[in-house]
Amino acid sequence: MSGPVGTQLDDGIDARAATADDVEVVDSRPSKVGPTTVLRALPTRARRTVGPWCFVDHAPPHVVDGSPGMQVGPHPHIGLQTVTWLLAGEVVHRDSLGSEQPIRPGQLNLMTAGFGVAHAEQTPSSYRDELHALQLWVAQPESTRHGQPAFEHHSELPIVDIGACTATVLVGELVGAASPARRDTDHFGADLVIRPGPTAIPLSTEHEHAIVVVGGRISVSGHPVNVDQHLYVAPGRAELTVEADEPARALLLGGVPFEARPLMWWNFVARERAEIDDAYEAWQSGTGRFGPVESSLDIIPAPLPPWRTAGESWRER
Ligand code: MN
Repeated sequence: MSGPVGTQLDDGIDARAATADDVEVVDSRPSKVGPTTVLRALPTRARRTVGPWCFVDHAPPHVVDGSPGMQVGPHPHIGLQTVTWLLAGEVVHRDSLGSEQPIRPGQLNLMTAGFGVAHAEQTPSSYRDELHALQLWVAQPESTRHGQPAFEHHSELPIVDIGACTATVLVGELVGAASPARRDTDHFGADLVIRPGPTAIPLSTEHEHAIVVVGGRISVSGHPVNVDQHLYVAPGRAELTVEADEPARALLLGGVPFEARPLMWWNFVARERAEIDDAYEAWQSGTGRFGPVESSLDIIPAPLPPWRTAGESWRER
């Protein structure tokens, strides 16, 4: 379920206008990833990134029995890291570096694409229970986005209690708990299990933030945020107060505003159309740029970039 971001970016609903204190609540939008409907928090038409976080998909809980679960065949990436985080279920990751890695809840798969990598993700046929997954992308900065691909699996991550929240730190640092996961920019991501009661979460004022609700409903500093909505918070905030009446679950993402406005198309994150054209050609022609993935699933062909047929009528958003 690692993308794609889509072949156009103009099908989203607009984020609401920012309020005076630069806090806004934004609805995720339904998006098809293969046979699965996911709720996409990022990107929106109005906002491409939160820190370097450029893509956030939530596959709501569903029972796999009698359905194929996650069956995403080999496909390429450039210029991003994929962050796979399961709330329930099991998925096997296979990539062109030779990695074959099952992932279960509480574990992190982090793949760095750099110049190019390909991977497949598949629910094992033996798995018959609930699947509940989050897939995120982190845009790579100029300093690493042309570099070598890499893959990391972290079977254990730091877990820290903050008031009525239990936070697992996927990447970066929260209240002094630091993830061992690679990061190329100043950002963090944490999974919050939220119990009833208020919790003050300290933040870096250098970071912008999004808190994406994936279960239940919460209030964040007085703003109600329902499941498959997120609250965006501009830099400058030193604290947010999270409160739930019933148990809830959310992802807290933050980072220094990204250095560039990335051009995102299909499974590629770049800056210029020519870079995406090159990656498209390499994937379609099967050059060695991406390498083979050992998978029983069919390779996913790249669609034609729209500017190659529509010319100037196509605009990046
Ligand atoms: Mn992917």
